[in-house]
Amino acid sequence: MKIVVLKFGGTSVGSIDKIKKVAEIIKNYKKKKYKVIVVSSAMSGVTNDLVKKSKEISENFSKEEYDVLVSSGEQVACSLIAGRLVYKGIKSRSWLAWQVPIFTTGSHKNSRINLINKNKIIKYLKEGGVPVITGFQGINNEHRITTIGRGGSDASAIMLSKFFSAERCVIYTDVDGVYTTDPNIDQNAKKISKMSYEEMLEMASTGSKVLHTRSVELAMKNNLTLQVLSSLTKETGTFIVDEKELIEKEIVSG
Ligand code: ADP
Ligand code: ASP
Ligand code: MG
Repeated sequence: MKIVVLKFGGTSVGSIDKIKKVAEIIKNYKKKKYKVIVVSSAMSGVTNDLVKKSKEISENFSKEEYDVLVSSGEQVACSLIAGRLVYKGIKSRSWLAWQVPIFTTGSHKNSRINLINKNKIIKYLKEGGVPVITGFQGINNEHRITTIGRGGSDASAIMLSKFFSAERCVIYTDVDGVYTTDPNIDQNAKKISKMSYEEMLEMASTGSKVLHTRSVELAMKNNLTLQVLSSLTKETGTFIVDEKELIEKEIVSG
């Protein structure tokens, strides 16, 4: 099976119009005969708002309830994407992490994905369906909802790519690739067409939020090809690959 994992960040699903665009992107991969697994974050601003609410309810809001609360934004976004795909005649449904299930270990608020059950998703892909899976969420061995740390949907997408042996993991965001510095701050930032995990890791760990640091570590560990693209434009993005695969030696990087 030629599987691709498409991850949409909060900025890509931040409005109804943007979600409609996301459905178009997914449809194009289907046309190219890919089996598509979609991972979505919450609509932008939603998770921050939920965190704020938890603080307003209690100064020491229970960490178990924090995970139930702040992971709820992903449910909304996934349902809207799947609903739009169904409207466009594509077989699709949303999957909450516990329905897959995506198992995690470790403490609430900062769990780690350690196992993903493939059976139901594989069956659904074979039936021609597009599963739209919540990023950021998991379930622990006590059947409680967990979250994997802020910005964690990138890591969810990488772990799904690993377990389903995806050809690549495409991270759709609001910039058309990884730049030498944040293009929203520095007008002289240059887009990097291809870079190594090591270079990306250095950028992520020095604060570039375009990719979540742990997700880059996981991609590197599992040798997964990552691509960063904009969901708003058709520009060519950035490939993040193993150093050995880098053909161009003169890479402009931060
Ligand atoms: P998403 O909602 O898709 O997860 P994020 O806001 O987490 O998006 O990450 C995308 C943002 O990362 C961009 O809007 C950009 O401002 C910022 N950013 C920081 N450093 C870089 C960089 N080196 N290259 C590209 N974008 C960067
Ligand atoms: N919605 C979550 C957050 O805002 C996860 C993510 O965006 O990746 O942290
Ligand atoms: Mg992000």
